[in-house]
Amino acid sequence: MMNVRIPTGRFAPTPSGYMHAGNILCALMAYLSVKSKGGKFLVRIEDLDVPRCPRSRSREILNVLDALGLKSDAPPVFQSARTAAYAAAERALSKCAKLYPCFCTRAELHAAHAPRSSDGESVYSGACKYLDAQQTAELSAARKPCTRIEVPDRTIAFVDGLCGEYSQNLADDCGDFIIKRSDGIYAYQLAVVVDDGESGVTEVVRGADLLSSAPRQIYLQRLLGLPAPQYYHIPLVCDAFGRKLGKSQGDSAERLLNEFDANTVLGGLACAAGIIPTFRPASLDELTEKFSWANVRRDAIALPEKFTDIP
Ligand SMILES: [Zn+2]
Repeated sequence: MMNVRIPTGRFAPTPSGYMHAGNILCALMAYLSVKSKGGKFLVRIEDLDVPRCPRSRSREILNVLDALGLKSDAPPVFQSARTAAYAAAERALSKCAKLYPCFCTRAELHAAHAPRSSDGESVYSGACKYLDAQQTAELSAARKPCTRIEVPDRTIAFVDGLCGEYSQNLADDCGDFIIKRSDGIYAYQLAVVVDDGESGVTEVVRGADLLSSAPRQIYLQRLLGLPAPQYYHIPLVCDAFGRKLGKSQGDSAERLLNEFDANTVLGGLACAAGIIPTFRPASLDELTEKFSWANVRRDAIALPEKFTDIP
């Protein structure tokens, strides 16, 4: 029997600052993409780093989504409550891949002689991969290690729904990567894969800054026996003058909602992304009907001047 998977998308913000218009645009694209296929839209709060992610920011994000009608079809998942699931995944990975403690300091990792990938990212050298029991014991007395996973010298390729073909050789482009930080918090790469897998996510819509994370996540999905979702990495959103949006109050989603009604915000963002040709109010139902990835801008998305905070 065919295993039919219900189209399932998600919006997964990190509540470490104010939500800005670019975050809402990402939520809107994720919503429209999956709703145009008759699927489910989920919200997940990526508050792994609890001290940096106060509950009040999570509430603000959920309030903004509610005000726009971008409601989750299941109760929102909080990553801060999912440690047991990440620990289970770590145990599963330890049975099919080499996991090892890494004691390197930030300064050691970013030293001038540290290996770099072709695009200048620092690549982990594997310095701690072959420590023996005595070395590990000595280093453990001095500081807490993070946990890394060994990567194969193999290219991982996929076709992004917006950016096209993308590939990375994990050994050359990032090296063995962290799945648990030295403070015991599970790494983003692992948490995302576990949560998307458990929620049955079939498509991931997020900012292009995360494109280079996808091969690491696909590698973890394969080890954990999880299907890879379809990825869509949308261009970063800037204001009408080409400035990068920040998590400061001036660019905040709440400011937009104080000044404009929900359909004006939705229509303005949909226009910026290329879904409708002109700036005008539009409902979620109308945008769902009109949505097509073929129309979404691939280069850069600039907010309408009306949505730009003019100092
Ligand atoms: Zn190390």
